[in-house]
Amino acid sequence: MSALLRARFDMRLVVLVAPLLVGSPLGTARAAEQPVRNVIVLVADGCSSEQYTLARWFRGAPLSVDSIYVGAVKTWIADSVIADSAPAATAYATGYRSSDDLVGIGPHGKTLSVFPRPPAELVYRPLASVLEGARLSGRATGIVVTSSITHATPAAYFAHVPLRKLDDDIMEQAVHQNVDVAFGGGRQYLVPASAGGKRADGENLLDVLKTRGYQIVASRDEMRRVVSGRVFGLFAMLHMAPEIDRPHLAPHEPTLEEMTCKAIELLAQDPDGFFLMVEASQVDWACHANDPAHLLSDLLMFDRAVAAALEFARKDGRTLVLALSDHNTGGMSIGNAQTSDTYSQTSVDALLAPLRTMDRSSRALWAMVEPDKTPERVRHVVRQHWGMEIGEDEARQILTVAARDKDNPHNAFGEVLCPKHTVLGWTTHGHCGGDVPLFAYGPGKHGGLYDAPEIGALTATALGLDLAQLNQRLFVDAAQAIPGGKVTIDQSDKANPVVVVEVHGRRARLPVNKNLLQIEGNEVALEGVVVYAPNTGRAYLPAQAIRRLVGR
Ligand SMILES: [Zn+2]
Repeated sequence: MSALLRARFDMRLVVLVAPLLVGSPLGTARAAEQPVRNVIVLVADGCSSEQYTLARWFRGAPLSVDSIYVGAVKTWIADSVIADSAPAATAYATGYRSSDDLVGIGPHGKTLSVFPRPPAELVYRPLASVLEGARLSGRATGIVVTSSITHATPAAYFAHVPLRKLDDDIMEQAVHQNVDVAFGGGRQYLVPASAGGKRADGENLLDVLKTRGYQIVASRDEMRRVVSGRVFGLFAMLHMAPEIDRPHLAPHEPTLEEMTCKAIELLAQDPDGFFLMVEASQVDWACHANDPAHLLSDLLMFDRAVAAALEFARKDGRTLVLALSDHNTGGMSIGNAQTSDTYSQTSVDALLAPLRTMDRSSRALWAMVEPDKTPERVRHVVRQHWGMEIGEDEARQILTVAARDKDNPHNAFGEVLCPKHTVLGWTTHGHCGGDVPLFAYGPGKHGGLYDAPEIGALTATALGLDLAQLNQRLFVDAAQAIPGGKVTIDQSDKANPVVVVEVHGRRARLPVNKNLLQIEGNEVALEGVVVYAPNTGRAYLPAQAIRRLVGR
C-alpha cells in the first residue's frame, strides 16, 4: 500500500473513529495497561433490561449478570436508529459502525443524517476483527452459538460479506480462518447436496477441516470426549433446538453452558491466552415470536454460560468478561394493556403462574398444530404445553394470525395469548432501538454509556491489538497495492470466484473466501482470508500475499 494511501487512510480512519474515542472512559490512560490474556464476549441476542428482570423473577434468585452490571450500549447503526444483528455485531467485532445486513465490512454510502458519509476506502471494505487480531497475537480463538455458526453475530467475528444470508461464503471463511473451537449449528453448509448438505459450490469443507487436523463432533457425548486440540462441533444441520425443547427434540445436543465450559477448557490450554465469543442466538428469535417460554429458557441458559465464564475469570485473574446484547427485540414489558388500571397490584404469581406451565416453545407448538390446523388441535396443544385453557375464538384467532405470517406462523401464540393470559406486553415482532445493558468483569473493564463501535475498540485495547494496523495487515486493496500489476476476478465458476494477479510476468490465483495463494505450482497458506467486494469490484489480500507477489 503506497505511503500516501496509508497516510490518507490512517487520517480518514482517525477522523472517523475519533468522535467515538475521545468522549468515552476509554480515553487516555487505558492504552498503556498490560493486555489481558483472555477475553470472553457473551451476547444475548435481542434483549434488554425488561427481559433480564423477568428472568430474575422467574429464577427466583439473582442472575449471574446482576453482579457485574457496569453500564449500557447505544445500538444504532450507520443507516438506522434500530439495529440489525449483522452491523451490530460488526461494531462489537471491528470497532466500526456499519450498515444493515453487512457482515464484517465497512458501511455503504447511504447513512443516517447524524452519521458522516464514510470515506470511499471504507465503503464495503473488509474490517479486521478482534478474533482475527487475537489469532495473529498467538491466542487461541473460539465461537460458541445456538444458531448456525454462519448466522449474523458469530459471522461478524470471522467473516466479511455484503449480505448476512451468504451462508456458503461465511462457512468457507470460517473453515479457512483457523478458528480453534467452533460449536453451534450449520452442518449443512459444510458439504454439498451430494454429501447430504446444502453447499451450492460443490465444495466439501468437511474434508478441508479433516486435512487441517480438526476433530469433528456432532453430539454432546462426542464433544465431551475432546480433551485438547482443534474442533468443529456442529450439532444440527441448521440451528440448534430452543433450550426448552432440546431435552425433547434434540437430547443429543449440548447446552450453551456445556459448550462454553468445553470451549474454555480447550482454549485455556493455549499459553498465549484466548478470545471466545459466545452467543445465546435464540433469545432474539423468542422475542421476535413474543414467546416468553423460549425467551426464559434461552436467557437463563445464557446466564449459566456467563456464570461459567465468570467462574473461570475469577480463578484466572487475567480474563476480561463482557456480556451484552446487540439490540432489543419485541419490546417486551412487564405490564400490558390489561394491567393499565391495576399495574401497582401485580403479584409475583400474576407474573409467573402463566409462565410456569409452559414447557415448549411456540415453534414446537406450531409443529404440533401444523398437520391438523383446527381450533380443537390448537386448544389441545396450548392446554398441554402452555397450561392455558383457551376459548374456541382464541384458537381460531391463532390460526388466522398464523395464516397471515407464512414465514413465522408460530408468532401467533405469543401475539394472541400474552395480552390476555399474561401480564407481559410486546410492542413488535421486530427489533427495538433502545440502549442495552452492559455487564463486565476483570482487568481492563470499564463502566458508563458506550457507542456500539467503542465495544470493539475496548475489546481490542484489552487484547493489546491495534485495529488500524490489523486492517493494513489483513486487508490490502490489491489493485492499489501492486503498481504495474493486473488484478482481475476469474468468475468462470460463479460459485468459486478467484482473484488473479499478474505482476512481473508472474501469475497467481487466490480463491475468494480462502487463505490460499497459488503460484508457480505452489500453494501458500496465508494468515488471513481473501475477500472480494462485489459492490465495489475490489479484491483485498493479506499484506503477506502482496509482499510475496511483488517480491518484497
Ligand atoms: Zn433479530
